[in-house]
Amino acid sequence: MTEVLNQLFIGGAWVDAADGATMPVDDPATGEILCHVADAGPKDAKLAEEAAVQAQREWARTAPRARSEILRRAYEIIIERTDELAHLMTSEMGKPLAEAKGEVAYAAEFFRWFSEEAVRIDGGCATLPDGRNRMLLSRRPVGPCLLITPWNFPLAMGTRKIGPAIAAGCTMILKPAPQTPLSSLALAGILKEAGLPDGVLNIVTTSRAGEVCEPLLRGGRIRKLSFTGSTGVGRILLAQCADTVVRTSMELGGNAPFIVFDDADLDVAVDGAMVAKMRNMGEACTAANRFFVHRSVAEEFGRRLAERMGALVVGPGTRDGVDVGPLIDRTGRGKVEELVADAVERGARVLVGGRTPEGPGCFYPPTVLTDVSAESRLMDTEIFGPVAAILTFDDEDEVLSRANDTQWGLVGYVFTQGLDRGLRVSEGLEVGMVGLNTGLVSNPAAPFGGVKQSGLGREGGRVGIDEFLEYQYVAVPVR
Ligand code: ADP
Repeated sequence: MTEVLNQLFIGGAWVDAADGATMPVDDPATGEILCHVADAGPKDAKLAEEAAVQAQREWARTAPRARSEILRRAYEIIIERTDELAHLMTSEMGKPLAEAKGEVAYAAEFFRWFSEEAVRIDGGCATLPDGRNRMLLSRRPVGPCLLITPWNFPLAMGTRKIGPAIAAGCTMILKPAPQTPLSSLALAGILKEAGLPDGVLNIVTTSRAGEVCEPLLRGGRIRKLSFTGSTGVGRILLAQCADTVVRTSMELGGNAPFIVFDDADLDVAVDGAMVAKMRNMGEACTAANRFFVHRSVAEEFGRRLAERMGALVVGPGTRDGVDVGPLIDRTGRGKVEELVADAVERGARVLVGGRTPEGPGCFYPPTVLTDVSAESRLMDTEIFGPVAAILTFDDEDEVLSRANDTQWGLVGYVFTQGLDRGLRVSEGLEVGMVGLNTGLVSNPAAPFGGVKQSGLGREGGRVGIDEFLEYQYVAVPVR
């Protein structure tokens, strides 16, 4: 493995925090400290802001092809270094190496996708209806951005924001989650190598997110916030952005329903459930949170799912043959334990799992609960762990209204062999994305995002770059 980068990245240089502070990064598989990284304060944030603001003018003027080629080179470097990036990610976040490699490919794909979009930014020219005026329409970068990312996809959440910002011609400050700063720092090294000019990307790792981000959002120089994280923090940030009218893209929490009708192919549904529930150990905002299964197939579905979940191998993500790594930290695991205890107290039966293992690390076993009461706390809380909670339903209208009875609306999963029913239920779900007979929706070429309190805006797809562009229209009279 090459050297681990652990300083702040400001104005193209690697620097310590102004006050010399550092913070530990833990390995969730052992609970031991992996290394220390710089712990930035408001002074460092100010320097990063200055670097981003200074670089903006020149960067906005670069040729789209030049921006595109930087992204393309970075894509190629990431792919070449898949193994070492996957190891780094597993060590700080815990996911099994095979999943980490999958994320490296997914993360790189955002750079390839946006390298292709950078040269397709459109504009227009038209004669207006009165015949006396023309309109010249162009698109320009929104300006310096603050990007805040979570720990669950340490590389892909960064590239999904950095890719379109670079393509659009924006400069940026990235603040990664304190649990997983190493992947973001590695990404900065790769972009520097790929030729990204100094100051375009600045990385501020910190344990004091509020103290570092609030002055940036209130200062009036940052023009855009792109945030992925919890709905609670999203609300705080939206309020901060309101004062200086900062544009926002918010990817917040989810509470995905996973609906299995009586005419579903149960093999397909169980395969889908394994992906929708177990990708990233359930630590994903797209994770299936509420399994609604038709009463006539609920027992069979529960039995098959429990069999598959029970066969998964739990252990450190670096070990061969491991399917399920540790959860991110003791707090995350404690929350999962409490939600399971609450459901069991309210009558749920544990088909498999449900017991925290002894020993170091933040492990929790794949768990299937059935006969879950609708009053259980996990019905309106993101579980963020490997726990499938099954409820039964009798008819389509009923399940649709129960599925929609939540403040969230990120994604839903529907399993049926009926074409009409599949489309009807997909269209009836109040969500931004639907997996119809599949447990995986994320794809860099598709617009990712939610409705209701799951967020604002979309990332990826043809529209992903729009979040980083403004329209400008020039009126030109016909003379
Ligand atoms: P999670 O519970 O999954 O860690 P959070 O919403 O707490 O989700 O964290 C997502 C990101 O938001 C992380 O980078 C975190 O450091 C950051 N964050 C948390 N609180 C604040 C805040 N008050 N201001 C800015 N960023 C924050």
